[in-house]
Amino acid sequence: MNEPTYRPQTRLIHGQMRSPHWNYADHIVPPISSSTSYRLESSARGAEGFQEFANPEFNRHTSAPIYIYDRLDEPSRGMLEDNLAEAEGGETCVTFSTGMAAISAALGVLLKAGDTLVSHHTVYGCTYSLFTNWFPRLGIRVEFVDLNDRAALGELLARDLNVMVVYGESPCNPTLELLDLRGLSDELTRVNADRAPRRRVFSVLDNTFATPFCQRPLQHGIDLVVHSLTKNIGGFGTDMGGAVIGPMLLEPDLLLYRKDFGAVLSPKSAWPPLVHGLPTLPLRLRQQQLNALRVAEFLEAHPKVDHVRYPGLPSHPQHELARRQMRDFDGEFAPGSLVYFVLAGEPSAARAGGARLMDVLATKSLAITLAVSLGQLRTLVEHPASMTHAPVPPDKQLEAGIDPGGIRLSLGIEHPDDLIRDLERALAAV
Ligand SMILES: *Cc1c(COP(=O)(O)O)cnc(C)c1O
Repeated sequence: MNEPTYRPQTRLIHGQMRSPHWNYADHIVPPISSSTSYRLESSARGAEGFQEFANPEFNRHTSAPIYIYDRLDEPSRGMLEDNLAEAEGGETCVTFSTGMAAISAALGVLLKAGDTLVSHHTVYGCTYSLFTNWFPRLGIRVEFVDLNDRAALGELLARDLNVMVVYGESPCNPTLELLDLRGLSDELTRVNADRAPRRRVFSVLDNTFATPFCQRPLQHGIDLVVHSLTKNIGGFGTDMGGAVIGPMLLEPDLLLYRKDFGAVLSPKSAWPPLVHGLPTLPLRLRQQQLNALRVAEFLEAHPKVDHVRYPGLPSHPQHELARRQMRDFDGEFAPGSLVYFVLAGEPSAARAGGARLMDVLATKSLAITLAVSLGQLRTLVEHPASMTHAPVPPDKQLEAGIDPGGIRLSLGIEHPDDLIRDLERALAAV
């Protein structure tokens, strides 16, 4: 039943017919497990369970794990992890309580005091805060660069031999700039050829904006993918979660890190993405993408809009790159569900106009909701400069390409005509 010939769309619904995490004989939908500890039939079995946990000799994906305590491992989460690894085409997945916990863990196992992290200059606001407020306290240096500038990256890697991780998002939150994933991994392959295996530079990519439906970075040579499950993978806006997907060799450290720092994904929060989120991901994303393209085209043609960024528009500066690396499970172009746009006028006027637009939408629109977060059934609008990216100082926002008046739209699954009508009315009021 676990034949790989079934397509991803089918496998995201059914998972593994026989999972070592659960006996599917009685259930079609896996139950939510809710038990902080597990009965051990003998002390020898208890000892064996502790022996096997985070042990590279034991494969918890193919053999039945001995469950001991929720914070170590547990079945609902294990099933979700197997399906997430499958969706991204990775060897293993370890989940966390939030996207930020997943990012902290991925970098926590790869970095130590004295190391340098190289980050793309545009990242999610809390990721920026983690890198600038907390990593320096741990003795980790952070350098922000344009990761698409291969010469600058090469120069930095040659100058600082303590660089151990290169980190980015593609598409970037909120500007929808893309990173050339193959170009980046080729550069690191070149650099790693001259380094001892122990000193290998790892690439970590936040794939939250694209989801595995639109892009699978591991296939482009990236080492580790991180996700906020809170967004499109969860999909219904009910639960928070995070995931790290990558090579088996990092699994023991990720499990130990999660056990000791403690940011486990509750089984009650693992269940919705397992049962509702992943199975409907292709269905939702196809409709969200149709809406995103319709809305992006509408905004681009509107006289009050200065410019629109959507990887699916030919006007996107990296449209050709988008066509190469953003592909769904069937190989179709999949530019995602987020749109970024800036109103016409001077920056201060565009910002005031944007605030007015969002206030009109907040009070007069049924189809569009003023709220942060993204990747839900509902279309959400927000102002990155004052909301999601508020931790980034204004001068750094400009360097990162975040316009003072930039507006981010996360498309839901409403009827596109309703979205356009509500936007048209709100733009008329600006
Ligand atoms: C929301 C988000 C995160 C953080 O995820 P949480 O689940 O809110 O902790 C990280 N990266 C990106 C790109 C995000 O949009």
